[in-house]
Amino acid sequence: MGWGGFRGVLLLSDGLTSTMKEDPGEGLGAESTRFDKDFSPPRLQGRNTVGCAADHTTNHRVDSAFLRETGHGRRVNPEQYDIAVIGGGPAGTAAAIRAARAGLRVIVFEKGKHGRDKVCGDGLTPRAIGALNELEIPLDDAHHIRGLRMIAGKRVRELDWPTTDRFPNHGAVWPRRRLDTALMDAAAAAGAEMVYETTALPIMDGDRVLGVEAGDGPTARKIHADLTIVAAGAVGKVAKMLGADRVEGETFGLAIRTYAETPRHDDVHLEALLSLKGEDGKAVPGYGWMFPAGDGTVNIGCGALSTMKGFKKLNLNKMLENYRNQVMPDWDLGPNLERARAWRLPMSTQKRHGPGWVAIGDAAGLVNPMNGEGIDYGLESGMLAVDLFIENPGTAPARYDVMVGEQFDAFLRTGRRFSFLIGHPWILKPGLALSVSTESIAKITLAVMGNLVDNQTPGAAGKVMWLADKGLGLVDPILRKTRAAA
Ligand SMILES: Cc1cc2nc3c(=O)[nH]c(=O)nc-3n(C[C@H](O)[C@H](O)[C@H](O)COP(=O)(O)OP(=O)(O)OC[C@H]3O[C@@H](n4cnc5c(N)ncnc54)[C@H](O)[C@@H]3O)c2cc1C
Repeated sequence: MGWGGFRGVLLLSDGLTSTMKEDPGEGLGAESTRFDKDFSPPRLQGRNTVGCAADHTTNHRVDSAFLRETGHGRRVNPEQYDIAVIGGGPAGTAAAIRAARAGLRVIVFEKGKHGRDKVCGDGLTPRAIGALNELEIPLDDAHHIRGLRMIAGKRVRELDWPTTDRFPNHGAVWPRRRLDTALMDAAAAAGAEMVYETTALPIMDGDRVLGVEAGDGPTARKIHADLTIVAAGAVGKVAKMLGADRVEGETFGLAIRTYAETPRHDDVHLEALLSLKGEDGKAVPGYGWMFPAGDGTVNIGCGALSTMKGFKKLNLNKMLENYRNQVMPDWDLGPNLERARAWRLPMSTQKRHGPGWVAIGDAAGLVNPMNGEGIDYGLESGMLAVDLFIENPGTAPARYDVMVGEQFDAFLRTGRRFSFLIGHPWILKPGLALSVSTESIAKITLAVMGNLVDNQTPGAAGKVMWLADKGLGLVDPILRKTRAAA
């Protein structure tokens, strides 16, 4: 049971149960919401024989058989683009900015409004700052963060982000409504066509994606694109259609957040309580965070991994309430500024490419299981997909898969293995104590929590993660088998 199959019941506030709905901005709240929609792909009327992702230079004929009657009896001709993007979050907009600046014809469909929110901790790792710098997004509106305060039991370690030649030595907190708006506007300014409040679904021809069908009624559009980029976030209808659902039995996470006023809103360190507890007082593999936004408020939230015992019954609202009570004396919090909302953290996918398409960001399961962060991977994977398309449109999807594998897979796999390890409570507690026990070990924890580790990481953190992956690889089957029943 899990994410893709997680259409079941999630226990929410006040013991209410709720099924999930597909809106990362609205998230999951106390109201009962529908998630379990009809996942059958839309019926394609007409045969599609055009659109070839293998050859960027192909002149695409409009096949009259592919013309479609809409519900309003209007015929819709396919329009031709280089790239169609489904989803206007950080991943989709990064791809759009890159593509538009390179002179490609790119269109982005976002089902939310311009300026929509996304349930998130709003924390930007130094890696994310690096990616935003590369995209030339001004960061004046973001609150500058110097490092991370990690708390495990009574032990507190406050460290600054390391100075490396790969990433900036600072992070930021930037509420998603503002970050995503800045990215959407940058994409539009670069020349990408941004279409809001419009749901798009892939047009399939066997396993090939030819483009997208978007909207309905008089505004319905049919787009043919040499590459369709799926940036639709945590698994939903698009992933189902592409067979890109999460991997059954693999780790995923759930996290919840709200905002509150605090005199410490301009603190320059993120705070992570690693020794998070559930409502029953038992240790939870996950963490609670205080991410100061510099605007009078702090983003307060917590998340948990699916590998823990009792995950299905976990009451996120109560966990957040407990955490809030715990940090209250230090942070002098005002009342919650909005209803706490939860959303999913996808950490695997059955596939992330196919003929004519790639998945990026959350849609590709690119979230670090050790901290639940994925904005940086979303930005990077979006740029990577477009760069490879520019190099060679025909080979881009397959090369993208290989390069994501080389750059991120080993680390994220270590993270997933690690999540099964800490899913065992008798390992979790001593593990947490160890994670901040000495300054050198805490520095490695810091690198992991900052998404600073990957296949190119030099030094201790890189070596330790390499060794950890090997070691965990050996015990992984046992850890999964003996995993506490959810
Ligand atoms: C509570 C919580 C806290 C988090 N905290 C952090 C953090 O502090 N730092 C961090 O780095 N990461 C954090 N994450 C993870 C982070 O939010 C995601 O990794 C990030 O949003 C991924 O970006 P994305 O563009 O891939 O997807 P999203 O940001 O989810 O964007 C996907 C977009 O696609 C749109 N969409 C979906 N389907 C369609 C469709 N069919 N047609 C048109 N549009 C569609 C959605 O409306 C959405 O706007 C957190 C996640 C959660 C749940």
